[in-house]
Amino acid sequence: MIELDRRHALLQAQAREWWAELRPHALDVDRDPTLPARLLHHPGLGRLGTLQIPPAYNPDPLTLSGHHFFLMTALERVVYYEEAARGDLATALAAPGAPMAGALVDALGDEEQKEWFYGRVLAEPTWTFFALTEPERGSDAAGLTTTLTREAREGPWRLNGTKRYVGNAVRGRLGVVFARTGGGPLGVNAALVEAEAPGVTAEPVATLGLRGAQLGSLALESVEVAPERILGRHLSPTRRGMAGWLRTFNLLRPVVASMGVGLARAAHEYVRTCRAGLTREEQCRLDGMERRIEGVRRLTRRAAVAVDADVSAGQLACMAKLRAARLAEETTLQALEFFGAGARFEHPFLEKLARDARGVEYMEGTENVQRLSVFHGLVRGGSHGLVQDGSHGFRCGSHG
Ligand SMILES: Cc1cc2nc3c(=O)[nH]c(=O)nc-3n(C[C@H](O)[C@H](O)[C@H](O)COP(=O)(O)OP(=O)(O)OC[C@H]3O[C@@H](n4cnc5c(N)ncnc54)[C@H](O)[C@@H]3O)c2cc1C
Repeated sequence: MIELDRRHALLQAQAREWWAELRPHALDVDRDPTLPARLLHHPGLGRLGTLQIPPAYNPDPLTLSGHHFFLMTALERVVYYEEAARGDLATALAAPGAPMAGALVDALGDEEQKEWFYGRVLAEPTWTFFALTEPERGSDAAGLTTTLTREAREGPWRLNGTKRYVGNAVRGRLGVVFARTGGGPLGVNAALVEAEAPGVTAEPVATLGLRGAQLGSLALESVEVAPERILGRHLSPTRRGMAGWLRTFNLLRPVVASMGVGLARAAHEYVRTCRAGLTREEQCRLDGMERRIEGVRRLTRRAAVAVDADVSAGQLACMAKLRAARLAEETTLQALEFFGAGARFEHPFLEKLARDARGVEYMEGTENVQRLSVFHGLVRGGSHGLVQDGSHGFRCGSHG
């Protein structure tokens, strides 16, 4: 077991308190995805808008008993988001700030880009997007077809294409968009884009679960992008575009896993609290659920510690993500079984948890993609390095 030290335990306790207060809004957020913008006075949600920004650019970390938290390490995020998902994952995903785009800017941005991007995020509550998936390119993200072209060598770039299932696409004021400047994996680049730029159109996409997160599509029609908004322009081609998203996913996969753990905990606790008169067999089943949750939780924390030590050590992160997505889905469905045939009607919070849990499967690579990644890593053996393999994920294996 990776026990939390006092510092992380403080963060956990604060997150737990905040998200217990936010949970009563969960069903309202499910009905009305504009509600989170009116809940920003609550620090659990509002503070996310000013965290996940590197210390060099963030003068205002969360301070608890003298300890500063920037939510930049995977472990801090895992601790926070497990409690947030236990409260309401959709509300947490609807927070302002830059959880994904900010991590990419950290990995690929130059000094000026970081100052501009983080400055914008900190100036006022600002939602950001990370636009990678396309209508025909989900798991196979490396096959993306959005283009970034320019007519003159020193002139502006033009962005054309469509992105889909993008978190906070509609609320987002700025974000990152992945596009192709040439063929192959090295021909993928990322650009900083403002939502109000001419040619950008955002539309919500209807989803069954995580409705509050309000996924959306982005149509990009001849959107002008200044050369200084291309991320990684100061880096070699092998360290730009795809390398950036692989690194970002490595860092954030344990965080998605922690969201699955949080959802599972919420379902398990709901049964413990609301279901009276358990039979011996039911008690055993519930205890089994608890043990399973604890196992995935340990794996998730280990994965976070591993990527914090070496961001290319993503194998445990793949395993944690795939185990946690399955855990969330199965635990929420099993929890419904404790309430009989009418459970989905009579227990709307539990019904929502089951819908939301399905979403975890698709975030940052599906179970099959993680399984392929783990498989490639095992076949190749050796270190935990990243190998670009043309899928949404990466191979966890030796470099080469
Ligand atoms: C809550 C949520 C938030 C999201 N946020 C973002 C975001 O902010 N930005 C963004 O760009 N995207 C985002 N996505 C999109 C997400 O990344 C994609 O849904 C995901 O990559 C899967 O792509 P797809 O939906 O096209 O499914 P597909 O890739 O079409 O997959 C469908 C099924 O086929 C299987 N499959 C696909 N390829 C293979 C293969 N080679 N071998 C075996 N099985 C395979 C998959 O496992 C899956 O079961 C989000 C999705 C969700 C649900």
